[in-house]
Amino acid sequence: MNRKLKAQLIAPCGMNCGICMAYLREKNKCPGCRAADTNKSVSIIRCKIKNCEAVQKGKIKFCFECEKHCARLKQLDKRYRTKYHMSMIENLEFVRDKGMDKFLRWQTEKYKCPACGGILSTHNGKCYQCQHIESW
Ligand SMILES: [Zn+2]
Repeated sequence: MNRKLKAQLIAPCGMNCGICMAYLREKNKCPGCRAADTNKSVSIIRCKIKNCEAVQKGKIKFCFECEKHCARLKQLDKRYRTKYHMSMIENLEFVRDKGMDKFLRWQTEKYKCPACGGILSTHNGKCYQCQHIESW
C-alpha cells in the first residue's frame, strides 16, 4: 500500500491526515479532511474547522491565510500539543514559511517508523504497516 505523504493530506487546520490514526487504520478508514467524499471523513464530525465558512467556500486553503486567528484553531492546537505532541499552528507556519514540499519531507522523516520505514501515527505512535509502537 502506498502511504506516501502528500499535499492533499494536509488539512486546512495544519493537521497531517497522513499520520492520523483514523486515516492509517484498516477499519472505518477516514479518507482525510480534503477527501472528495467528505461524508466518509471522520473529521466532519470531530473537527470544528470543517464548519468554518471560509474553508467550506474555498476562500482559504489553510488557516494561516485567515485573519481571524479563531478560537477553534487555538483549541485544536492546544489539545494536540497537550495530548499528541504536535502543533497545528507550528505545521501551518512551516507550510507558510518553507512551503509544502519541505513540510512533507520534514513530516516523512519525523514520523518514519524505525522498524520498517512506514508511517507512525501521531495519536498512538503506532505503525500500521508492521505494528511497531514507538514510545515517545
Ligand atoms: Zn513499521
